Parts: sequence; C-alpha cells; structure tokens
Amino acid sequence: MLKVLKFGGTSVGTLDRIKNVAQIIKKIKDEGHDVIAVVSAMSGETNKLIEYAESFSKTPLESEMDMLLSSGERVTSALLSIALNEIGYKATSMSGREAGIVTDNSHTKARIEHIDTTNMKNAINEGKIIIVAGFQGVTEQSRVTTLGRGGSDLTAVAIAGAIHADVCEIYTDVDGIYTTDPRIEPKAKKLDKISYDEMLELASLGAKVLQNRSVEMAKKLNVNLVSRSSFTPEIEGTLITKEENIMEKPLVSGIALDKNQVRVGMYGVTDKPGIAANIFTALADANINVDMIVQTVGVDGKTDLDFTIPKTDWEICKKMMTKFEEQSENIDYNEKICKVSIVGVGMKSHTGVASKAFAALANENINIRIISTSEIKISMIIEEKYAELAVRALHEAYDLDK
Ligand code: ADP
Ligand code: ASP
Ligand code: MG
Repeated sequence: MLKVLKFGGTSVGTLDRIKNVAQIIKKIKDEGHDVIAVVSAMSGETNKLIEYAESFSKTPLESEMDMLLSSGERVTSALLSIALNEIGYKATSMSGREAGIVTDNSHTKARIEHIDTTNMKNAINEGKIIIVAGFQGVTEQSRVTTLGRGGSDLTAVAIAGAIHADVCEIYTDVDGIYTTDPRIEPKAKKLDKISYDEMLELASLGAKVLQNRSVEMAKKLNVNLVSRSSFTPEIEGTLITKEENIMEKPLVSGIALDKNQVRVGMYGVTDKPGIAANIFTALADANINVDMIVQTVGVDGKTDLDFTIPKTDWEICKKMMTKFEEQSENIDYNEKICKVSIVGVGMKSHTGVASKAFAALANENINIRIISTSEIKISMIIEEKYAELAVRALHEAYDLDK
C-alpha cells in the first residue's frame, strides 16, 4: 500500500516527539508499505514567527509572510529525514516546490492548482521514504506560498489524491474525531466514522482537528481519510468517508465552537437597493470571509446590518469599513462573542432539532444573538464567556455522551 501520513505540530513538537514519529514511520515501512509523510512546524513555531513579523509591522507583506512561515515546516521535514536515515532508513525531505505543489498567487491563503508527482514517484521507486514540508507550495512564477492555518492537512490530502494513495492518515494529539472537542467536554465520545459533509461543517465551524479545505478536497478526490493519534498509534482512529458508508446516522453527530469571530454592527444604514451589495462586494474583494448576516426590518428609511467575520480579518475589515462611514450612523465591533454549532445529517429528516438547542441554551440563561441554519447545521452567536458552558449543555441535550 502507499500511505500518506501527516504529523501535526504537537506530534513533532520536541526532538523526542520527532524521534517517536520516526519510529511510527519505521513500523509502517517494515510492514511493507510505501510512505510519504507530511509534517507541520514544531508546535508554537508558526505563531512565534507571526509575532516576530508583527513586531515590525501590523500589516506585513503577505509574500514575505509566506517566505517566513514556510521555513517552520522545512525545519521539521529535514530533522525527521535525518532521524530516519540515522536508524537505517533511506529518507529524503522535500519542500513544497520539490514535491511539485503549484498554487495560485493568493499569498497566505493559496489554493493548490496542481501537483506534479514526478519527483515523489521517482523517490518512491527508489525505495525512499519521503518527508514533505507541509503548508506550502510555489506559484507558477516560483514564489513561495502558504495554504492558510492548519494547511499541512491540505498538503497531505492533496498529495494523497494526486498520487492515488490508498489512505491518508492525519496523526495528531487526539485519537480521532470526537462528538465535540474533548478538551472542552471530557465526556465527548470518539466516533468510528463520520461523513465528509458533517466533518466539513464541523471543521468550518471551528473544530480545528482537521482543516476544512482538506476535508473538502478529500471529498472531491475521494481520499480515504483517517484521523488518529501519534501518542497512541496503536489505537484505530476515525474514518472520514461517504455518507452511504455509514449505517447508523445519528440525529446530531457533533458540536463545534469557534472563538475566532468578530461581530460587526452597522446601525442606521440607508435602506435602499444596492447598499448591502456595495458593502459585501467590497469585503469579498478584500478576501474577507463574511459568515452570518442579519438585516433588521427598515424603519424611516434606515436599517441595521449585523455580520460576523474571522478575527484574523478584523484589521483589514476596519480599514474597508471607513468607506461606508457616511452611509451609516454608527459602526461597532464586538469580539467578545463566539459561535456554537450543532451538526448532523440526521437533521435533514427530523424536526425539533433546533428547538432543543434553543431550549438547552435558555436553560442556562444564555442569550442567542444571531442564528443561522443549513440542511445539516444550526449555528448560534452567543457571548464568549458562555462558550464552554453552551458546548456542554448542547452535548448533553442531544445525549452525545451516551
Ligand atoms: P495538529 O497540530 O496535529 O494539526 P490541531 O491542534 O490542529 O492538531 O488539532 C487537534 C485538536 O483539535 C485537538 O487537540 C482538540 O483539542 C481539537 N478538537 C476540536 N474539536 C475536536 C473534535 N470534535 N474531535 C477531536 N479533537 C477536536
Ligand atoms: N504550521 C502551520 C500552522 O500552524 C500549518 C499546520 O500546522 O498545518 O497553521
Ligand atoms: Mg491542525
């Protein structure tokens, strides 16, 4: 079998942890499999580099950020390769460029356009273990790009898809996908399987255990994706697969929490056609991901507009919004909010799912500010101080601990 393995920040967080990863790879190689391992930077490294840059500038050039941040994963790929060679295994590290990963030009959030697998195939044919520096690629013009936070997951899935690997195993510090973040609710249960669509919702709604774009790509390319732990590699993880491969479909599969949100309130906005279009076109052009949007009923030719954006886009958003100051009486920002969401394919065919969520929060005296729903999810914006309480209340309301 050809296996693509990915080891996240904590899994390579110290030199001892890197040695441990070398042992996991050694075992899989000894079982007769070919291995391509994708690695993250050592935990904390990417944040440290961002802080360094921000000590010089609040808005550093994105192309320079990519040059800086991509270095973190190159360090771990070389170290892991050195460790494997030392124990007698032929290994070779590859940067994104050497692995043939070509992206578009959107620095810091680049999309993979194609992967030229020639180098990787040649190395595999020579019996080598490949260690790819995750999270990065190059543009057609050979400039280094990065794939967004958590992007090493995407590197692994994209390579698995391009090279037709039999499986893509994402090794992290928990042994699979749980009904909610086990660090918030210790009663959370591990799932054996979860559908691509549910995982995509959970990941997009804040469950950072898998990067959302990696799940989207896994679904598109039909990659057998497994989430498991490098701390307990003997334990089977969670399989992320097609909905039809899952016999038992729970009403609700999981709860996600996202604290990386800011609510933007525009009050007394002129209520006439085209205003919302102008605002949201401007935000889209600035590559800002607007999430929930609420517009209240207009009174006396004025209306209020509320929407949420990721905290990471806050600075750019503020700059943008100065253009619209004249079209509204007041614009304010609230970052002390969070989004809790419940996700489950069973919602498609059952009623009463939403009312249960609202009742569970009401029981805890938690006020819901904004609600949005789709076929398989319900999201609610609440005050940040209630975040963990809300997750636990919802987890219990849907009997996820049973
Ligand atoms: P890595 O550094 O390996 O990429 P991450 O820190 O990105 O790992 O993701 C792993 C973390 O995701 C876990 O430590 C856990 O706290 C968190 N997490 C959030 N939601 C879930 C969930 N539903 N199941 C498992 N882990 C979750
Ligand atoms: N090192 C990058 C990050 O911290 C990418 C990754 O770990 O997947 O976001
Ligand atoms: Mg991650």
